[in-house]
Amino acid sequence: MTIDLRSDTVTKPSKGMLEAMMLAKVGDDVFKEDETVNELEIRLAKLFGKPQAMFFPSGTMANQTAIKLHTNPGDQVICDKYSHIFNYEGGGASFNSGVSCKLIDGNRGMFTAREVEEAINPPSFYHSPLTSLVEIENTTNKGGGACWDFNEILKIREVCDANNLGLHLDGARLWNALVVKNETPEQYGKVFDTISVCLSKGLGCPIGSVLLGDEELMQNAMRIRKVLGGGMRQVGFLAAAGLYALDHNIDKLHEDHEKAKGIEGVLKRQWYVNSVEPVETNIVIFSLKDEMPEKNFIEMLAKNNIEIISLGAGKVRIVTHSDYDSDMHNHFLTILESL
Ligand SMILES: *Cc1c(COP(=O)(O)O)cnc(C)c1O
Repeated sequence: MTIDLRSDTVTKPSKGMLEAMMLAKVGDDVFKEDETVNELEIRLAKLFGKPQAMFFPSGTMANQTAIKLHTNPGDQVICDKYSHIFNYEGGGASFNSGVSCKLIDGNRGMFTAREVEEAINPPSFYHSPLTSLVEIENTTNKGGGACWDFNEILKIREVCDANNLGLHLDGARLWNALVVKNETPEQYGKVFDTISVCLSKGLGCPIGSVLLGDEELMQNAMRIRKVLGGGMRQVGFLAAAGLYALDHNIDKLHEDHEKAKGIEGVLKRQWYVNSVEPVETNIVIFSLKDEMPEKNFIEMLAKNNIEIISLGAGKVRIVTHSDYDSDMHNHFLTILESL
């Protein structure tokens, strides 16, 4: 038995999900003729109260499309130094859109409206890049699954309105935040111009993300997705997994959160742990004492068929997910206590 805690992307489709996929009615989605994709898009658009939703092969492509929609080459995007668009999308913001990022030195991947205000380049000062977009990530990945304070998001919206800036949400794990904070997709739909959500993380789909936005923006999104090579054909087989996940898997996310909390509790008592970042959702980030180099720690776990990843600088990350069951959880906790 291997216990894979590297990411919530390692899940394989459940039996029920696979059955739903096999039964999907499909068509050519480039001609908008795949009824299952259409159903998923309409359902998510309704859920978020946005006019349109569009199915993407990956969250990266959905975010990259959003950046392109909101910017012109040479512009600048305000985001946190931990953000996925800056750290983990292969330099796509500059490759695809020709933009730079103004990084905010935030708190666990989150920042304040005040910090956004300070990061905006005055439009009249033509020596600086033109600021055109603010990007928020909820939950924060590199920030350890932290959830934003919705009131701060509202204040950031006001700053964006006052300065004519777009506001994009990287909601790869927004589902986790909604569950923990008891928030609704609609409330996010009202505030953001565009939102990307992943079906392939906590919701357990093999593939798939969705970008949401207003009609005019999304009209352009069709073209950009095509340019990026994301126009797909009989992709309803994958959209069916998404529909299944919306019906069955959102309600289960709290189990991942409870397990992550359990891991946090055990880690805090171990001699080799320096500190654990407060666990809110399904990500646990902690730092190790000097006496336990992260390489040794990861090797010791690997010997027990447990996989986790290093974030560098003595920090490691664990992500719980639907394929990590209670037996694995108990076994993992025992191992952590035995090191
Ligand atoms: C996983 C993730 C994405 C998208 O990643 P893909 O692997 O391209 O689907 C985007 N943002 C965050 C915060 C993520 O964790």
